[in-house]
Formats: sequence, structure tokens, C-alpha cells
Amino acid sequence: MQLREILQSRFGFSEFRASQEKVCHAIASGSDALVVMPTGAGKSLCYQLPGLARQGTTLVISPLLALIDDQVSKLAARGLRVEQIHSGRTREAQRSACVRYLQGDLDFLFIAPERLAVPGFPEMLQKRKPALIAIDEAHCISQWGHDFRPEYRRLGERLSGLRPAPVVALTATATGMVQDDIIRQLGITSASRFIQGFRRTNIAIRIHEVSVPDRAEAAYGLLSGEGRLPAIIYATTRKSAEEITSEFKRLAGRKKDRIRAVCYHAGLDAETREQVQQAFLSGECDVIVATVAFGMGIDKPDVRTVIHAGLSGSVEGYYQEIGRAGRDGLPSEAILMHSFADQKTHDFFFERDYPEPSVLKQSLRAFGVASRASPRTLDDAYESTSRIKRDAFDKAVEKLRIHGALTIDHQGLVTPTGTTTWERTYEAQRNHRQKSLQQMLDFVQHPGCRMQYFLKYFGDTDARGACGVCDRCKRGSEGHGRELSGPEKTTAKLILAALSQADGVSAGRLFDRVCELKPRTDRKAYESVLELLGQEGWVAVRKETFTNESNREITYRKIQITPDGETAGETEIEALRISDLGLPESVKSARPLPKKRRRR
Ligand code: ADP
Ligand code: MG
Repeated sequence: MQLREILQSRFGFSEFRASQEKVCHAIASGSDALVVMPTGAGKSLCYQLPGLARQGTTLVISPLLALIDDQVSKLAARGLRVEQIHSGRTREAQRSACVRYLQGDLDFLFIAPERLAVPGFPEMLQKRKPALIAIDEAHCISQWGHDFRPEYRRLGERLSGLRPAPVVALTATATGMVQDDIIRQLGITSASRFIQGFRRTNIAIRIHEVSVPDRAEAAYGLLSGEGRLPAIIYATTRKSAEEITSEFKRLAGRKKDRIRAVCYHAGLDAETREQVQQAFLSGECDVIVATVAFGMGIDKPDVRTVIHAGLSGSVEGYYQEIGRAGRDGLPSEAILMHSFADQKTHDFFFERDYPEPSVLKQSLRAFGVASRASPRTLDDAYESTSRIKRDAFDKAVEKLRIHGALTIDHQGLVTPTGTTTWERTYEAQRNHRQKSLQQMLDFVQHPGCRMQYFLKYFGDTDARGACGVCDRCKRGSEGHGRELSGPEKTTAKLILAALSQADGVSAGRLFDRVCELKPRTDRKAYESVLELLGQEGWVAVRKETFTNESNREITYRKIQITPDGETAGETEIEALRISDLGLPESVKSARPLPKKRRRR
């Protein structure tokens, strides 16, 4: 009752959102808690309201100054007493914030995690212990998170002096493993876990295999259908975002009901980005073609479609991105286009972004032995390395800094710290990153409901069953997909025949076999039939690697026939239905367009 009163009088909300009330009760009555809810679900209230109920100051630790600013101004606007202490503020302002804290004149004190490492600061806090400690964006604690922040890692020990206040950790992205890690690191082993709100009932997810050069046109076709705009298209690289945008402009040039697209990525200057974003938010343009740099803090409620023109790097990222569809609760679609080529792109990114630990070691040596080293500039240190490319060196230095092996001051001078823990944390993060990609592939190939996969992935306790709207749920239902064409049926038969003779061949070899039996088989048709056979459970597709003569790891798909595939005959093949992109007739008949083939 009392909490509800605070909700209305202090926050001006008439009702709790799903699960907020339970969380608030637990925290207000002194339990530690881990709260995992998607972005926009209303996590802030889950610490702010119990903080007020507990009557004292709530200490909020948050990693980004922009997030702190945003929360502070919102709370201040509600007439609450709030202050912030971090490196972005003047000494004077920080001192006065401390004074207010010590006088008990604050409802909330926001700090950056680094602050707890400043000598004297934790002691100051201890003089008047907080009533509640909230750790926002808590996934930064985990070395497995890509946002891992070494300062967060020490929080557990630093907080112990501020107890017995309850601790609440909040995040939007935490797999079971990361959740365990957060709880362990913070030493809150009896914390209640609240993992909720991941189900989105109004987003229908579809996944299609589409080759890289066809994706722009396929996306254009999809978005030409009724009620599919506004839309976001996520591209895997800046270059491909630009290419898709110009392809849209080319296609729009020939049509009456043209789609207006703009491009957004971090390589554009701030002013252009702002303009483009505004054009999309105001409805002046229909489609924003963007890299994943777009979307943080964007609140456009009526996005009808989110298309991924390439495989995402992680299930968390993908979930976050499609979550920008249908904030208004109306039916929306999320369409992922992928092909085997995407895995190669990601392997390339991985090698570029997560160099071998040996490269980090070699780069670290360039800064000398910690006990005797004097600060050096990057250029200086690079001089003394051999056989490392500059890009790789810079990347290695960035990783070494993140993992605490180096510090860089504001003049750009670098000093080694002498710690050796970086090796373990870097390797853990690198392995986790690689695993994330594999999980994304598992998600794509998962035979069951897409939404349920997410719920399980995040550990959401929602038990409402399959979503009923994704491509997996729709399979076999009336009106879904189409019958196979004559050539596709033949291809299916030939694939099964070839596999029953030579089980376990690479996808490339298998294609050659099929071509021997029926020359001029279309590669694209072959790929889509192969995917269908995989979905039917007639063939098993596995990613395998071998090391070639020049010592490079080569990945390929190994295809094997299953017992169901062995027994599938003419009738079963006749009954197959293949889902296509569902392009509207107007687009299909507008083909063929002169197609410029661009290969990456
Ligand atoms: P998160 O941190 O989970 O991403 P926020 O805490 O920033 O989300 O909340 C998202 C929005 O939802 C905010 O604008 C907030 O004011 C609003 N909100 C939160 N709880 C409620 C509620 N019970 N009723 C109405 N609006 C709410
Ligand atoms: Mg938040």
C-alpha cells in the first residue's frame, strides 16, 4: 500500500508495470536483488521507489556519464533531492555534493564506479551509510560482457564497507552465465532474481537465407508491402549500410510509391547523424539503413519492421535491435537475412577485434617492465615492436587498457600497471565472444519457436508457450509458404540421393554431386532447398573447420542425412512447403531490374 502511494505521489504513475511491484517489495524490505528486464521495461523505478521507501540515501553506481545525467535530471524534475559525483564535475560541485550527502540531504547520489577507487571517497560514504545500493548496467561487471569494465570488477570488495544496505544489480542483457557472475562478483549470493518481460507478443520473427548481393532488393520488396513502414534496416558494416541506401535510392527512382531511405553510421559526422535521425523520427523519411551504432535511446513507437541485412554477432544484440519494432504494441515484423557468407564476415571481425593473446603480450612488452617503465606515447612504443601491424597494435593497446594492464593518461601517455590478471579476463572475454556467434547460429537453426528461444536464453520465467506468430510457429499452417517448384523438388531428391551414397560431405562437394546428376542446378535454389531439408530434420548441418596447407583455419558446413531423410520419399517431398520472403506481386512483376552485382 505504502509503495503504491509513493508510486503515485512521487512518480506520478497510476500503476506498477508487470513485475515492478514484486521487485520493489523485495528490495524495500531489505533483500538483495538481481533485476534483468529489457530496455524500456522500467528498471529505474525498481531501485528508485524502494530507495525512497527505505528513507535514506540511495547510492547509484552507473558506468556512463550520459546515463547518470539523464537519470539525475529526471529525478530532479520530480522534485527529488539528487546529486552526482564523477570526473565530469568541478571540484567545487563534488565537494558540495559530499556535504549534502553527509548531512542526509540527498535521496539519491549517483557516482561513476571509478569514484570508489579514489582514496578517501569510500571512507566518506562510510561515515553515513546508504540505505540502498543500486548498480545499473550491471553486466559491465562480468568479464564475459562485451562492455566489461575492470573498475566494476572491484565493486564487490569496495561495497562491503557500505553494507548492510541491500544491493540491487540491474541490467537488460545477461545470460544465465553472466547473471551468476554478477551475483558472485558482488557477493550477493542470496539475492532474489527477477528476470522478466522479455516476451514481445507483437513482433513476428522470420529468418530467411538470402545471398549478400540480393539483400537490398529483397528488403526493398519486403518494405513495399502494405503497412511495413517505417522501418529500420541493420547492416553489418558501414560500407554495406551505404550500399543498401544507394540501392534503395536507385530502386525508388523507378517507382511511383517510392520509399525514402537514409543512412546512419558512426563514420558520419555528428551533425549529419543528428539530421538523419531527426528525419527518421519525424517521419520525413521511411527507412533508416544503419549499423548497430543506431538505436540507443531512440524512442520511435511506430517502427513496423526491423530488417537485419546480415547475421548479428550475438543473440543479445539481435534481441535488443528487434526490440525497437512495435513499441506501440501494434503488430510488427522482424526479418533476418543471412547466408553462410555472414559467418566468414564475422570470423573476419573476430580476428580483427579480438587479437590473439600473444599479440597483446608482444604489444605490452613495448611499454617496458612495469616496475621500471616510464610513460611512453603510443607512437614511441610502436617503434620498438616488430612484425605487428599498426592497426593490430592499437587494438591490442585498447584491450590491454580495458583489462587493466595499461593506463593511459589524458595526454596520451601510457604506463604498464604490472598486473597479470588481464590474461585471464581477456581470454575469457574472447572465448565468450566466439561463443556468442555460435549461439546466434544456433538461434537461426533452432527448430522451435523463436520467441521461446529468447525467453530460455535470458532465463525468463514466463511460461506462456510458443508465440504463434514467428516463422517456426507458422510452419505447416495454412497459407504459409508455397509448394516447391519442379526444379526445387528435383534438387531435393538429388541432395537426398547423393547423401545416402556418401554421408557427411561438405556443402560445396554436395553441390558438385548434385550438378553431376543435373547440370546447371541453380546454386541459390540449392541453398534454399538445403536449408529447408535442415528445417525438416532430414539433413543435419554442422559447422566444421580444418587447417589448410598455409596454416589457416577454414570453416565449412558438413551435411549428413538423418534417419528421417533416409525414409523421405516422393510423397513427402511433394508435401514440402518452402517459405519465401513473401514479396508483394507488384515487386515481383517489376522485375527483372538490371542488377549490378557487387561482391565484397
Ligand atoms: P530501463 O532502465 O528498464 O530501460 P527506464 O527505467 O528508463 O527503463 O524506464 C523506461 C520508461 O518507462 C521511462 O520513461 C519511465 O518513466 C517509464 N515507466 C517506468 N515505470 C512506469 C510505470 N509504472 N508507469 C508508467 N511509466 C513507467
Ligand atoms: Mg536503465
